[in-house]
Amino acid sequence: MTIHGHFINGEAVEGTSGRLHDVFNPTTGEVQSQVALASRDEMAKAVDAAQKAFPAWAATNPQRRARVMFKFKELVEKDMDNLAKMLSSEHGKILPDARGDVQRGLEVVEFACGIPHLQKGEYTEAAGPGIDVYSMRQPLGVVAGITPFNFPAMIPMWMFSVAIACGNTFINKPSEKDPSVPLRLAELMMEAGAPGGVLNVVNGDKEAVDAIIEDPRIKAISFVGSSDIANYIYAGGAKYGKRVQAFGGAKNHMIILPDADMENAVNQLIGSAYGSAGERCMATPVAVPVGEGTADELISMLKPKVESLRIGPSLSEDSDLGPLVSAAHRDRVASYIQMAVDEGQDLVVDGRDFSLQGYENGFFMGGTLLDKAKPGHKSYDEEIFGPVLQIVRAENFEEATRLPSEHQYGNGVAIFTRNGAAAREFAQKVNVGMVGVNVPIPVPVAYHTFGGWKRSGFGDTNQHGPEGVKFWTKIKTITQRWPEDVQGSEFVIPTMG
Ligand code: NAD
Repeated sequence: MTIHGHFINGEAVEGTSGRLHDVFNPTTGEVQSQVALASRDEMAKAVDAAQKAFPAWAATNPQRRARVMFKFKELVEKDMDNLAKMLSSEHGKILPDARGDVQRGLEVVEFACGIPHLQKGEYTEAAGPGIDVYSMRQPLGVVAGITPFNFPAMIPMWMFSVAIACGNTFINKPSEKDPSVPLRLAELMMEAGAPGGVLNVVNGDKEAVDAIIEDPRIKAISFVGSSDIANYIYAGGAKYGKRVQAFGGAKNHMIILPDADMENAVNQLIGSAYGSAGERCMATPVAVPVGEGTADELISMLKPKVESLRIGPSLSEDSDLGPLVSAAHRDRVASYIQMAVDEGQDLVVDGRDFSLQGYENGFFMGGTLLDKAKPGHKSYDEEIFGPVLQIVRAENFEEATRLPSEHQYGNGVAIFTRNGAAAREFAQKVNVGMVGVNVPIPVPVAYHTFGGWKRSGFGDTNQHGPEGVKFWTKIKTITQRWPEDVQGSEFVIPTMG
């Protein structure tokens, strides 16, 4: 059986801790490989390598760093089919969606190719008599990214492409559920010309994560995963004086106003609620129809579509969705469905008994539709992260805006309407980080920036876009003068007045 180790200092290395984790194929339910879980010593070796590589990489001019990113983009594109297959067979998302996972990461690589321009500082000539002021954005040093199972290509690339382009050296601690793609991306970065130690991958669990938090040589941590762990990493990183951005869970709402094009809204909702088996932080697990008439029409249109979702093997091009990532996660999702029923929600479609012929041991689940969820229901207040859509009926626009605004999560939200003024008011008022207007999954493009609010995002700087450059660099501001005469002493704070 294949055992995935780590990638340190430009080469694949075996794990030495003796601790291993099973990697499943969710379609068959079989263990397909194992991954080594790093000890603190192994993490320290990766930090040594990254630390050693840092000075030369930081001193490499930005155009040359950008050239590595250009080449990397070309190599990932060439390897797309292989990466997508790897990803799909460990994660369980369908092949076209796995390609999308790689592609969304590549778009951030494209952004990072512009680093010579993006990292330029500012300059003010003659800010005072004979005084110029300028700023420079310098890399932080060794930095780390701790990434979740659900986007094993996109999220590591969100982080390392910008961090490395800025001149940092990087350690990725991927999810132990699907380690192959992050390892392959590190190989491709070396092939693209990044020196050994610039991108390292250390597989592991809490032990590796704690080593990242505590090692004083690691200057910044970017985390994406569930909220309790995000909070843990944010608090732990802050305690050790690190810069931390930590993105957590989500419960995104789609508001449907009575004037919306219902056919379009339903088509969009079905894809965003059930695509990737609902295992997306920008999925839409809650729909909020405004008015009883809108709710009844929505449910009558949704029900047959949920019942006829094509659920199949992840590698099939014909499936709408594949299995969930693990048996434990599937069972957890099923327990939330029971909780919703016990809380009094109407079970319109029950996906719990779904079984796929020939793949009876796979981690499959059918689509579930629940009506009449409410705030205060635990199954609504918490993230389920499965192919489950809950309907919360709202009486009016104000109530519909309040629901996502008052929810503990604030990642994404969408409004479907033909009324521009209502959409504009909603976008201004709603207490959520990313808003879609007639767009169900409003994941911003790479040159804008990604980040949720409330328990969906700890820290204050978003992923990628100019915010990413800000996160991965520190600003230095220089005030200079070149006087020809000797200057007198100043006992008063200098002003430019
Ligand atoms: P997770 O929190 O279980 O794991 C994320 C990372 O943390 C992994 O690398 C994992 O090994 C590590 N980890 C797990 N338990 C830990 C512990 N006790 N101590 C230290 N580290 C630990 O999340 P997941 O199941 O891999 O991913 C799904 C979650 O991620 C969902 O909640 C989803 O909403 C969220 N997510 C959020 C975003 C976003 O941008 N906000 C994007 C994708 C996923």
